[in-house]
This record gives sequence, C-alpha cells and structure tokens, in this order.
Amino acid sequence: MTGPSAWEASTTVAASAVVAIRGLSKHFGALQVLKDIDLDVQASQRIVICGPSGSGKSTLARCINGLEPYQAGEVVVNGIRISPEAAHADLVRANVGMVFQQFNLFPHLTVLDNCTLAQTWVRRRSKADAKAVALGHLERVRLAGKADAYPAQLSGGQQQRVAIARALCLDPSVMLFDEATSALDPEMVKEVLETMIALARDGMTMVCITHEMGFARAVADKVVFMESGSIAENSTPDEFFGKGSSPRIRNFLRQIV
Ligand code: ADP
Ligand code: MG
Repeated sequence: MTGPSAWEASTTVAASAVVAIRGLSKHFGALQVLKDIDLDVQASQRIVICGPSGSGKSTLARCINGLEPYQAGEVVVNGIRISPEAAHADLVRANVGMVFQQFNLFPHLTVLDNCTLAQTWVRRRSKADAKAVALGHLERVRLAGKADAYPAQLSGGQQQRVAIARALCLDPSVMLFDEATSALDPEMVKEVLETMIALARDGMTMVCITHEMGFARAVADKVVFMESGSIAENSTPDEFFGKGSSPRIRNFLRQIV
C-alpha cells in the first residue's frame, strides 16, 4: 500500500463496505459523545441518520470525514483506516464529500472557480479538465447557467446545490450530508432534497443526517437513530416508520413532525 503511513490497509473489517466503523468512541474531555459505534455503509447504500440534538450525529460525520480525532475503535473508508489523530484530513476529504448546513462556498470566487479549485490540487487536474468536470456536475444540479455568478448572487438553495456539485467534483466514494437543508427557507428545501434524491437514484453512496422523514422514506436503505452517543436503532424504513417501531422512535417522530 502506498501513501502516508497513518493510512493502513485494514485487516479487521470487511473490505466491501465503503465506510466501516467498529467500536468507535469519542470524548470531549470528560464527556463521551460517541459510545462504541458500529456502522457499515455499503456501495450505493443510502443511510439516513437522525436523533435528538446533541446525540452525536455531527461528531460521527466528522469522524468519517477525518476531521475529528477519536479515542477508540476503527474508522475505515474505502479500505483505508483513518488515523485516530485525524492527521491526514486532506487525504480523507478527497474521498468523502461533505455538505454542511452552512454552504461554506468561497465568497470571492465564482461558482465555477469554487468547483475547480480543489480539483487542481487534490486530483491534480489541469485547469481545462477541472472546468469540464465542474460544468458537468453543475449541469447535474441544474446550475451550469450560473457558472460565472458569485455565491452572494445565488439563493440559499442554489448555493447549497453548488456546494453539492463542488463536493462531487472530487469523485468522492461517499457523500455525507449534515443537515444540508436545515438552514434553508422552506421553499428551497425541496430543490435541494430533489438534488439529493437524484444523486441517490444515480447510485451514489450517501450518509445523510437529516430530519426530513419524507426523504428518508423515499431513498433510505437504513434509518439509524442516535441517542446519547449510541446507535439506538438501525432499521429499514418500513421498520422505522411502521406500527411496530419502538416507543422511543414514535416519540421522536411525534416531536419532529
Ligand atoms: P448532534 O449533531 O447530534 O446535534 P453533536 O455531534 O454536534 O450532536 O454533539 C454531540 C455532543 O458533543 C454534544 O453534547 C455537544 O455539546 C458535544 N460537542 C460537540 N462538539 C464539541 C466540541 N468541539 N467540544 C466539546 N463538546 C462538543
Ligand atoms: Mg449536528
């Protein structure tokens, strides 16, 4: 295996999963925010993660993305182990596309330049190749016509779709969405969810932290319910939304709808 030594071929977890997490525990000081998490995400699987605020969803996403050091367990993305020190975040981020609640576009760059910048250094593409890739993904999110606009000239929904296109430009093996529609006005939520649904239909491997239960019903293969740093349930949508679901899930669903 080539590459930095902190990236090692994993010998203990299934190589077939795009994301494999075993026994992951994470503390912030005395506070344990992730408790012995086990989770697999297979190629083309769509996992929806939900649960109360503070249950550890964002922290889990940041561990998958190599942004967050952790104390115990294993996180493997594409067969490559992410070091507990989160020391090679740039390399991990090249494989994991992340879309946050806040779009985090570079305000001083055009839409096109937002989408080409990382490609030139992460994927070592020429400017011309990067531009062609960017325009392809902007087309996919129906924003090719805005390539020369600046973020401030776009609506929130359009900015979030650019953020999705920008992440896709790096050919991620998995896309992570952390409450990607939570900061949007209601009329813009739909266009972003439609973009996410289209991605799912194209076979993208996705981990979506969201309370959009309509989205979960439409695309999720599994719905993961987190509570107090643990995975309390990992169910099919039929089980999750069905009459036989656990009282804690029914209670949670009552609170968010
Ligand atoms: P969620 O995304 O489910 O709302 P988070 O992963 O953001 O939950 O947070 C889980 C817990 O970790 C919360 O108790 C939160 O206060 C705590 N936490 C998150 N980030 C930090 C941090 N940087 N330092 C200390 N505590 C943190
Ligand atoms: Mg969060």
